[in-house]
Amino acid sequence: MPLKERNIAMMGYSSVGKSSLCIQFVEGQFVDSYDPTIENTFTKIARVNSQDYDVKVVDTAGQDEYSIFPVQYSMDFHGYVLVYSITSQKSFEVIKIIYEKLLDVMGKKYVPVVLVGNKTDLHQERMVSTEEGRKLAESWRAIFLETSAKQNESVADIFHRLLISIESENGNPQEK
Ligand code: GDP
Ligand code: MG
Repeated sequence: MPLKERNIAMMGYSSVGKSSLCIQFVEGQFVDSYDPTIENTFTKIARVNSQDYDVKVVDTAGQDEYSIFPVQYSMDFHGYVLVYSITSQKSFEVIKIIYEKLLDVMGKKYVPVVLVGNKTDLHQERMVSTEEGRKLAESWRAIFLETSAKQNESVADIFHRLLISIESENGNPQEK
């Protein structure tokens, strides 16, 4: 089957691990200090269900509750990874606002999204329960995953499950 191009955007509050998740997925390593202001695009060929994908992941510099949703992220993207840190209640509140703005800007009721609670290795500092994350994702009809970029826990799943979700979305145009 021919290569399919898929554009994915990583969004979320600062320091939640957006860049670390991208770098872990694309390069297979954990980088401890990565310039938080850099906005980078990572590319990787991924194979899911015997389909090859040319995945382009835009690692945004991050948003907060006051950010106006950047219009460039509402165009030409197939799916979104919305990241919070399980150690930060603030990042969990901010991700809800980002999601509302995303739907608003897209003018859609449904957008393929993976909600990611990152930094599970810091379980002693956990501030957001798994249940809270799962419930939020359910209310969005989104995929939910808890991950650790540091320990490479469930990182590839984010992208694989999003690619599958985008695929089924394309197959159900009436749901768009
Ligand atoms: P971004 O601002 O969302 O892109 O966040 P970064 O990827 O730059 O990560 C912010 C900080 O959190 C850095 O010091 C990372 O090393 C750290 N970090 C990211 N992911 C994890 C993780 O899964 N576990 C732990 N313990 N630290 C992490
Ligand atoms: Mg970053």
